[in-house]
Amino acid sequence: MHEDCIFCRIVGGQAPAAVVYQDELTFAFLDHNPVTRGHALVIPRAHLEDIYALDDGNAAALMVTGAKVARAAKAALDCDGLNFWMANERLAGQVVFHAHLHVIPRYPDDGFGLRRWAFGERPGHAELAELAQTIAARLEAPVNG
Ligand code: 5GP
Ligand code: ZN
Repeated sequence: MHEDCIFCRIVGGQAPAAVVYQDELTFAFLDHNPVTRGHALVIPRAHLEDIYALDDGNAAALMVTGAKVARAAKAALDCDGLNFWMANERLAGQVVFHAHLHVIPRYPDDGFGLRRWAFGERPGHAELAELAQTIAARLEAPVNG
């Protein structure tokens, strides 16, 4: 629990939130500045800053709760799609430094869009294979290690 973290304060009941779900490891509530109707945030109860800080248990729990909330949103809201979104580090758009998965129901012409993914020329297989190896070699390495 970090006194100066707004999401810790929400988990601890010291700040108000519209709660959707909670269990031993996770907590889900509506974003107070929703991108679309029903925009929810799923967070670990523990103060873990970002995706890098999650151990396997917390990472799995975050996704399990995300899927629960997604199914409930699909059933409850008349949405035609749904995105997960997660920002890690300031450069990627993270503003609140307590890890959170955005669950964003989608509606026709809702104006939300993430798909500006054109990367330029497609890399060849050898380049991709080498890059995959570079990343794979660091699996389970300590954060920033
Ligand atoms: P980020 O850019 O870090 O991924 O997004 C943080 C999100 O948290 C934003 O969408 C913002 O609206 C939401 N948020 C920030 N403070 C509060 C709060 O006090 N209550 C609720 N419900 N949402 C918050
Ligand atoms: Zn926190």
